Amino acid sequence: MVRKIADILQEKKRTYSFEFFPPKTEKGRTKLIEETAKEFTELKPDWFSVTYGAGGSTRELTIEIVDQLQKRYGVPVMHHFTCVGHSQEELKKILQQMKQRNIRNILALRGDAPEGAQCWTPTPDGLEYCYQLIELIRSYGDFFSIGVAGFPEGHIDCPDKETDSKYLKIKIDAGGEFVITQLFFDNKDYFEYLERAKKVGVNVRILPGIIPITSYQTLLRFCGTCGATIPEKVHEIFKPLDGNAEATYRAGVEFAVGQCNDLLAGGAPGLHFYCLNKIEPTKEILSKIKR
Ligand SMILES: Cc1cc2nc3c(=O)[nH]c(=O)nc-3n(C[C@H](O)[C@H](O)[C@H](O)COP(=O)(O)OP(=O)(O)OC[C@H]3O[C@@H](n4cnc5c(N)ncnc54)[C@H](O)[C@@H]3O)c2cc1C
Repeated sequence: MVRKIADILQEKKRTYSFEFFPPKTEKGRTKLIEETAKEFTELKPDWFSVTYGAGGSTRELTIEIVDQLQKRYGVPVMHHFTCVGHSQEELKKILQQMKQRNIRNILALRGDAPEGAQCWTPTPDGLEYCYQLIELIRSYGDFFSIGVAGFPEGHIDCPDKETDSKYLKIKIDAGGEFVITQLFFDNKDYFEYLERAKKVGVNVRILPGIIPITSYQTLLRFCGTCGATIPEKVHEIFKPLDGNAEATYRAGVEFAVGQCNDLLAGGAPGLHFYCLNKIEPTKEILSKIKR
């Protein structure tokens, strides 16, 4: 039986979850499914999650990987799912396929405009906002447990943080059951986000998304895309180490251990790791924090 994340959250005070992306090559997929995920099961995951590509061929791989991981390891696996490039009919078809494969956990997302596009425009006959996707998923009743994305610094296209919290509330009212945040490096942003969410009546769990830093250049690229701020202290640590993989790795683990310990001590209900299909940094971080 595949467990719903909403039920797991009822039982556990803290959860630890690990996010993967679908590798482009068959060799990469075999490695993820047969080796990497197996190693991750030793970290006692509450669930895995698999991202949904912005477009192109890796999208159909998400459902395959989710299905295989669930069957192989008995760990619940959350299928990320976006509105990008899909009409409502297509979205329904994919939901039906998920149901047939007993995929019961979805991270509902709007997705982003394709690279090169000036701004977000919905697909003809598609959906404009994530809350509409949640409503569509909820038309299947309680079969699916639904998570949503949260933005401690406010979404990049949202005029201000208060408006961002109101939109979060709409997603929860539509049927979102928990929140996973965008990556951030200043825990103050996370704790203030919790306060704002509480103020507008969001009472579901808000799980901090953690990215272990293993490359300064990748950090710059990621944050450039998603709009997360890189605090000066992070530049100060990692910029001088640029190009030194070993030193960056060590500093990345140390930084994340400090960040995670502070989050948990401050009451965060667990951690969600953006693992980028690599076990090492996450494994080491988890071994050094007070779970
Ligand atoms: C944990 C996590 C995992 C992710 N995984 C993926 C993935 O697998 N694949 C992928 O492509 N992307 C992924 N993303 C990125 C995500 O798709 C983008 O950040 C996207 O821009 C926002 O998605 P959303 O679901 O929050 O959208 P929405 O909640 O719909 O918000 C999008 C924009 O619309 C505004 N808005 C929301 N509701 C309303 C409203 N009612 N009226 C007016 N404006 C509104 C918001 O302020 C925001 O600016 C992930 C993000 C996170 C945090």
